[in-house]
Amino acid sequence: MPRLGHAVILLGPPGAGKGTQAQRIAERYHLPHLSTGDMLRDNIQRDTELGRIAKPLMERGELVPDDIVIRMVEDRIAQPDCRNGFVFDGFPRTLAQADDLERICEKYKFGVTFVLHMVVDKDLLMRRLTGRRICKAGGHIYNVYDRPPKQEGICDLDGSELIHRPDDTERVISERLAAYERQTRPLADYYRARKQLSPVDAMAGADDVTSSIAKILDGVEAPR
Ligand code: ADP
Repeated sequence: MPRLGHAVILLGPPGAGKGTQAQRIAERYHLPHLSTGDMLRDNIQRDTELGRIAKPLMERGELVPDDIVIRMVEDRIAQPDCRNGFVFDGFPRTLAQADDLERICEKYKFGVTFVLHMVVDKDLLMRRLTGRRICKAGGHIYNVYDRPPKQEGICDLDGSELIHRPDDTERVISERLAAYERQTRPLADYYRARKQLSPVDAMAGADDVTSSIAKILDGVEAPR
C-alpha cells in the first residue's frame, strides 16, 4: 500500500483503462479518484465559465489549456480528503502540468509520486473506446464488446442509464490519440528519468491489470 500522502498517477493513452483502474485503486487504498476529464465534464454540465472554454476543445479531442487544468487540480488537491494522497486519472497530460504537479506536491508536502505507465497496443484502443459506455450516476465503466452490462444500456451496479461519450467516436478518438502522442507520451521519459515510472501491461484483462498495479503499490516491486 502506498504510504500516506502519496500521489498515484495513471499514465497512458485514451482507452488504456485508466478510469477503470483508478476507480479500483482508489477504493482499495481509500484514496480519492481525481479525473480531470470528469471534472471538466462536470463543469460543462453545470455550464460554468471553465466549462464553456473546455467544451469545444474536448469535442474536437484537443487538450484544455494548462493554466485552466492546473488551477482546477490545485483547488481539488487542497481539499481535506486529499491529505492522505490521491489517484490521478488523466493528469498530468503535458510536461508543463507535470512540472506544476511537482510544485503542488512540494507545497502540500506529498511524498513520492508513483507513476503507473499503462502500455497498450493502438489497435485495442479504438475497440475499447468505441465500445465504451459509462453509467450516468456512478461513472461505472462498461464495454459493449468486452464487458457488456447484463441488461443493455443499464448499469448492473446502480440501475442508471449508460451513456456513450460524445468524444468516443472514431474521428475524435483519432484526434485524442494524436494529442496523446504529441503532448503526453513525453511524460514517460520525464518520469522514467526521475525513477518514478512503473510499466504495467494494460493489454491484460482488467482484473489482471488491477493485480499488477496492486503488486507495485504494495511495495512488492519498488517503482523504477
Ligand atoms: P481519455 O483519457 O479517455 O481521453 P478523459 O476523460 O481523461 O478521457 O479526457 C477527455 C478530454 O478532457 C481530453 O480529450 C481533453 O480534452 C480533456 N482533458 C482531460 N484531462 C486533461 C488535462 N489534464 N489537460 C488538458 N485537457 C484535459
